[in-house]
This record gives sequence, C-alpha cells and structure tokens, in this order.
Amino acid sequence: MPAASPLPFGRLDGRRALVTGGANGIGAAIVRGFAAAGATVVIADLDAMGAAALAREAGASAVRLDVSDTGQVHEAVATHGPFDILVNNAGIDQHAFFSDTTEQDWAKLIAVNLVSVLACTHAVLPAMQAAGFGRIINIASEAARLGSKGGAVYAAAKGGVISFTKSIARENARYGITANAITPGPIRTPMLEQAVAEGGDKLLRAMTDTTLLRRLGEPEEVAAAALFLASDQAAYITGETLGVSGGMGLGG
Ligand code: NAP
Repeated sequence: MPAASPLPFGRLDGRRALVTGGANGIGAAIVRGFAAAGATVVIADLDAMGAAALAREAGASAVRLDVSDTGQVHEAVATHGPFDILVNNAGIDQHAFFSDTTEQDWAKLIAVNLVSVLACTHAVLPAMQAAGFGRIINIASEAARLGSKGGAVYAAAKGGVISFTKSIARENARYGITANAITPGPIRTPMLEQAVAEGGDKLLRAMTDTTLLRRLGEPEEVAAAALFLASDQAAYITGETLGVSGGMGLGG
C-alpha cells in the first residue's frame, strides 16, 4: 500500500539518510540534494575532513568510516541510526588491464565496491523492516552492464551490486522497502579526474564518445535520480537499474 499521505514531490522531510562516500563527487551532490529536500543526512566517508566540511555546509552530520570494514559499519549504524534511506555510494576504481592486476587488487576492489554494499545494507535492514519503510539506492556503474577495458574487477563488483539490489528488492518488498541501482556513465568527479590524469585527453574523448549526448555528466544529475528514487513518489519502483549516462551503450 502506498504511504497514507505521501510527502510532496521532491521532499524528504523527516527522513533519516545515510550516504556513504558522501564527502566528494556524486555522494556530495546527493548529500546536498537530500539535505535541501529536508532529510537528516549522515555522511559516512574515509575523508573525515571533507565529510566534516560538507556536513557544516549542508547542515548534515559526518562520521569517519571505512565501508569495507563490516564491524565499523555495524557500529556506525548502531550509533547514528536508524535510517529510512541508505545510499551505497562509496566506491573506488583502478585502471589496469586484468592480466596486470594482483589478488590484492581484486580483494580491495571487491571489498570497497561490493562487500561494503552488503555490510551497510545488512546493518540498516532490521530497523527498516521494523519500521515498514525503507529506500536502498545503490550506485553501481554502466561498466557493470557494458564491461570495462581496464576495469574488469570493478565492473564485476558493480555487476554484483546490481544483482544484489534485485535480491534485496525481492526479499524486502513485504516490509515496504524498495531497492534500486543507479548506473552512472562518466561523471565529472574526483574519481574521474584522477582517471583522466592517468589516461589523458584520449581517455576523456573515448569516454564522452561512448555517450549519445557527447559530454560528461554532472554529479547533480546523478543526485536528481537518487532523490527521485528516495522519494515517496517512487514507491512503486523496485529492483530496477536506472542509467544516468547520457545514453551510454546505445551507439551513436
Ligand atoms: P569519488 O569522487 O572518488 O568519491 C568517492 C568518495 O568515497 C570519496 O570521498 C572517498 O574518500 C570515499 N571512499 C572511498 N573508499 C571508501 C571507503 N572504503 N569507505 C568510505 N568512503 C570511501 O567517486 P565518485 O566518482 O563520486 O563515485 C561515487 C560512486 O559512483 C562510486 O561508487 C563509483 O564507483 C560510482 N561511479 C562513478 C562514475 C564516475 O564517472 N565518476 C561512474 C560510474 C560509477 P577518499 O577521497 O578519502 O578516497
């Protein structure tokens, strides 16, 4: 059943949101957007100084957290929760052909990009189930759908995020909890700037050429999709994967 009296379109008043990796890039845009929509936002990030500065600016609060450490995640959620909304956004990339990577590289990429999503979801679910309401939004990547030359393990981890999202949607529909994934294309963030610094203008052109719109996306364009999926108006959307990628993968 839909909420008895849904919040107005674009509003998150009274909702408590946890945004991982919220100090920079896409996560920071989500923090700003959710806070402006009236949510109480907790930023969980490795970058403690960046998180604290953004928390002051946006009227949020900040906690230093390594999302790949399941113990730390459960402690942070016990201290700062319960949450109505979880955005699993923290992630890392690494540019190397798979044959040049090591088992340590795989472990780190899978821990930060996939295990963190399991850990944070596991920590927030009991309170969401008890409340009969929840929104879980997982930031995956178009790399999961298309593959990535130089990012095979990253793409595999993000593919895992998409299938995990669907399972969580199936298991938790009965509790009024939705779970959806967003797959960004190339978005102008510190993560992408670092990749461009390593790969040069050729990589930047190659990335924009994969989009129909022939440009990078902005973090706010991903945040707008997250705000919609977190809203009461998205109550009938679950288990979906929403591309915010300028039409990546459609040719052109
Ligand atoms: P970003 O600019 O690098 O920001 C990521 C934030 O996550 C940083 O504040 C980072 O802290 C934090 N973080 C990294 N590892 C963490 C950990 N173990 N625990 C807690 N926080 C951690 O990245 P972004 O580009 O905004 O990416 C956000 C999400 O979108 C990621 O999941 C990424 O895979 C996905 N995505 C991005 C793009 C893109 O083009 N930008 C495309 C597709 C998908 P530090 O700065 O201290 O490392």
